[in-house]
Amino acid sequence: MKIGIVGCAGRMGRMLATQVLTTDGAELIGGSEAPGSEFIGHDVAQLAGHEAAGITVGDDARALFQASDTVIDFTVPAATAAHAQMAGETGTALIVGTTGLEPAQQDAIVQAATKAPVVQAANFSAGVNILLGLTERAAGILGDDYDIEVVEMHHRHKVDAPSGTALALGSAAAAGRGVDLESVSQRVRDGHTGPRKAGDIGFATLRGGDVAGDHTVVFAGDGERLELIHKAGNRAVFATGAVRAAMWAGGQAPGLYSMADVLALG
Ligand code: NAD
Repeated sequence: MKIGIVGCAGRMGRMLATQVLTTDGAELIGGSEAPGSEFIGHDVAQLAGHEAAGITVGDDARALFQASDTVIDFTVPAATAAHAQMAGETGTALIVGTTGLEPAQQDAIVQAATKAPVVQAANFSAGVNILLGLTERAAGILGDDYDIEVVEMHHRHKVDAPSGTALALGSAAAAGRGVDLESVSQRVRDGHTGPRKAGDIGFATLRGGDVAGDHTVVFAGDGERLELIHKAGNRAVFATGAVRAAMWAGGQAPGLYSMADVLALG
């Protein structure tokens, strides 16, 4: 499987390069960075801490899509929307890890998925994808008497909040209750907020240090509290899942897929 990595000099980009280089059957075909990046011309493998592989970072993402079976994208929302269009034009499979997309940028992904296989996940770890299923199930069983709060903590460099994973967990909880997250989501509390509204799904965001990603879904009832917790020990778990998705997507028909499809979680 020929795999290209857009944003290959980023924190996740370098992890992804390592994972592709060490996965049987995967071939790192190239990497791109934002035009003007100081990393253009550097060796993709060397940036990831390996011996030079003779693959240099380019700025022509379209050429990378043409040369690849699958492209992995953990960049920024505007770039991801442009990459989605290229995936649609070339029919190249696309793996999207970028979070914080605006509705128009998400539309670009949905459009691309009519012409190419696209796997999108707010979190590529196996554990979080199992947690999504458990959250939906618990929310459905416990009902409105249990208040749901999603708490997340990430490293100091993260730029969007709440995390894409926290929002995905909120959506899973809302789906379990048969409601739309937008209508019950309480993303920020400050000052005199008044009492908690029944049925709300609340979010709390912590930032600091080098935390790879902690998520807790709290179901708080009268007299008991259930907490479902996931902690990512390092970013390699996301890269492992994304490359697994890349190997899987290469053989799929056009469509928008999730990690549940890749892991056959049903
Ligand atoms: P980062 O800032 O370290 O890396 C992003 C890279 O994208 C940078 O190197 C940047 O130069 C590059 N980039 C920007 N515009 C580009 C363009 N037009 N073409 C090519 N490259 C471009 O960020 P990061 O920590 O690696 O995270 C990237 C994204 O992945 C974020 O949205 C983050 O939330 C998300 N993320 C998702 C998961 C998951 O499992 N889905 C896990 C970790 C991070």
